[in-house]
Amino acid sequence: MKFLLNSLLILFVCSTAIASDDEMGKIRCATVEYVNRLRAENPNYLENKQKDELLVQQLLLNQAQSRANDVVYTIPVVVHVLYRTTAQNISDAQIMSQIDVLNEDFARLNADTALTPSFFRSIAGTSNFQFCLAATDPLGNPTNGIERRSTTSTSFNTNNNVKHYSSGGLDAWDVNRYFNIWVCNLGSGLLGYAEPPSGTHSDEYGVVILYDSFGRVGNVSTPYHKGRTTTHEIGHAFGMEHIWGDDSNCSGSDGISDTPNQEVETYGCPSTLPSFDNCSSSGNGIMYMNYMDYTDDLCMNMFTTGQTNRMKLLMEAYYPTLLVSTACTITSSREAADKFSFSIYPNPSDGLVNLDMFLMENVGSNLTISVSNLLGEIVKSEQISNPNGRTHQLNLGDQGSGIYFISVFNDNFKKTVRLELIN
Ligand SMILES: [Zn+2]
Repeated sequence: MKFLLNSLLILFVCSTAIASDDEMGKIRCATVEYVNRLRAENPNYLENKQKDELLVQQLLLNQAQSRANDVVYTIPVVVHVLYRTTAQNISDAQIMSQIDVLNEDFARLNADTALTPSFFRSIAGTSNFQFCLAATDPLGNPTNGIERRSTTSTSFNTNNNVKHYSSGGLDAWDVNRYFNIWVCNLGSGLLGYAEPPSGTHSDEYGVVILYDSFGRVGNVSTPYHKGRTTTHEIGHAFGMEHIWGDDSNCSGSDGISDTPNQEVETYGCPSTLPSFDNCSSSGNGIMYMNYMDYTDDLCMNMFTTGQTNRMKLLMEAYYPTLLVSTACTITSSREAADKFSFSIYPNPSDGLVNLDMFLMENVGSNLTISVSNLLGEIVKSEQISNPNGRTHQLNLGDQGSGIYFISVFNDNFKKTVRLELIN
């Protein structure tokens, strides 16, 4: 909610937050405790975080100068699986189901948006992020974006042993090109934790998730069986705090202007709507269905616009190369991608879409323009050559209304933007 300074004080001065658990002894998230430890170990941590927050506020003020809001950043993901038992060695299908959940939740394409209360729908946010399993590893070799290692560790915890080969885990892939997810058995009933973004680009940046709270098929356990633990933790990794501001009164804040003030975390699935607490005792009440609360997977279904704005600003500021990483294409050349840009208009469109293309240097001719729908099906594909300075017109009048992705690529690069079609 509103008071940013209070948020900073609560988050960075209060070091006594204790992970709390649900009635089954599960701990939804240990990110606050993890951040407190980082702070204790690094004398500059608090100062750096305060600088980060000032930067965010400056960026929020300058938001008009930010990149186009319709840009879609497709982030290459690597999933490191550490297993001691067969059940912990989760299937490729389980991993892919988690990528599907992320792509739905971050684009507000999740099937349960209908459960968002009508009075919160106008502030529900669509983020600028999509996710793909990496197709090229750090050495340039083809990969499916998944690596596995058998371990003798019965369980891992927040000490980050899971993030290093030397301590029984698996090393991060370059955090400036890949988003790292570690999946393992976490001890003490913990479901996950995240390292928030920072200018240090630590090789421990990413999220760690309990194997049976990852994905929505395979070895998943209710009520954390719909992939929302990873949605929540990536929310932290992209710069968001818990919706109640990590205090237990009404003074703290998550630093987001459009989330209601909330006293404490919510467990289970509240049956009353609106649901009130001491901080939001009237009106629409608390937003317990927000991904940054602790409710069951089936009962969370939204980010707010304020939250998605914050994620975009922070990630553009701290991980600009990750956002344009081409590690999901077989041949990757970030340099080439930097030398090509295109924009589309109008957007939304009634069918005729113009692409303005601009090359700062030759990245090769013979570009392909492809249009895909939300199912990933290519509905149109055209070849063009000598695109520099050209406006190319695409006719999508034969397609139904909805969200589409326009990609321009050749062997050297790929760029994608989102288009809304209103036919
Ligand atoms: Zn959390």
